[in-house]
Amino acid sequence: MRSTLRPEQRQDLHNPAVDEDAARHGACAGVHLQTGRMCTLENGHPGSCDFVARDELPAELRPDDPS
Ligand SMILES: [Zn+2]
Repeated sequence: MRSTLRPEQRQDLHNPAVDEDAARHGACAGVHLQTGRMCTLENGHPGSCDFVARDELPAELRPDDPS
């Protein structure tokens, strides 16, 4: 069965969650919504995201780490 969704009904697909704090550090910062893991590769990296658990993030990418 083909999808007949129009673009305005698919904004969730075009606006993936991004951790803005990590993005400011130059990370891709894409968040995998099901797991809460975040991509720590550089912004614009080729290939798939590499999602990392929050407690395994580099210190500079942890949103709750005061800098
Ligand atoms: Zn990524």
